[in-house]
Amino acid sequence: MSGKVRILVVEDEDALRLALIDALTGEGFEVLEAADGERGLAVALSEGPDVVLLDLMLPGRDGFSVLRAIRQDRLRSAVIVLSARGEEWDRVQGFEVGADDYVVKPFSTRELVGRIRAVLRRMDGGAPGMEHASRVRVGEALVDLAAYSVTKPGQHGDRSQGLSRLELDLLRFFLNHEGETLERGRLLDEVWGHGADPTPRTVDMHVSKLRHKLERDPERPRHILTVHGVGYRFSRPGEGP
Ligand code: CA
Repeated sequence: MSGKVRILVVEDEDALRLALIDALTGEGFEVLEAADGERGLAVALSEGPDVVLLDLMLPGRDGFSVLRAIRQDRLRSAVIVLSARGEEWDRVQGFEVGADDYVVKPFSTRELVGRIRAVLRRMDGGAPGMEHASRVRVGEALVDLAAYSVTKPGQHGDRSQGLSRLELDLLRFFLNHEGETLERGRLLDEVWGHGADPTPRTVDMHVSKLRHKLERDPERPRHILTVHGVGYRFSRPGEGP
């Protein structure tokens, strides 16, 4: 990644927004800001920042709606949701549109910067042995790695869905380690990054989302297999690595 990394802070709470701008500028990032969702989306679309820090409860257009619009526009920005605990968090967990990461308020600057750096490392994505083909078939599903989308046959014809950057990174890792048993801890280290601090539950949550997008029957997966007590193994029967 060349030049300064640009981060857009979308947060209506003035004190928190200013503190974030201060801290991130101090870390050497170039920081853009918006105090409401409408403005946040406009800046995201016009500036294409590397990372968007997105509060959910915003005046006017809320963070969920902003995130959905960002993903529909296929903007490549990574999105880290800044979420409060409680009900809002439950909505985040069930949220399908795809943030790249979440931090729960209150969070420390150190934690946030760790998450940002982990997301940036994944965006660089230049790990050796990385699969470079843009389209990959997983069973009936056709994944377009460049377009962040997956298409699979449904009852009413083909259905395309977006993949979050994290889902895509996880899938790439599976593709590059086909047939290997992958422990949750290793997936956390290699996909989420050492600087981040998610839990093994985070891995399960993202695996579940990937299964719903890729597998014919997500309850009886044929590709992303559970290895009980250990983690997961990715397999494409009959398609080879
Ligand atoms: Ca707020």
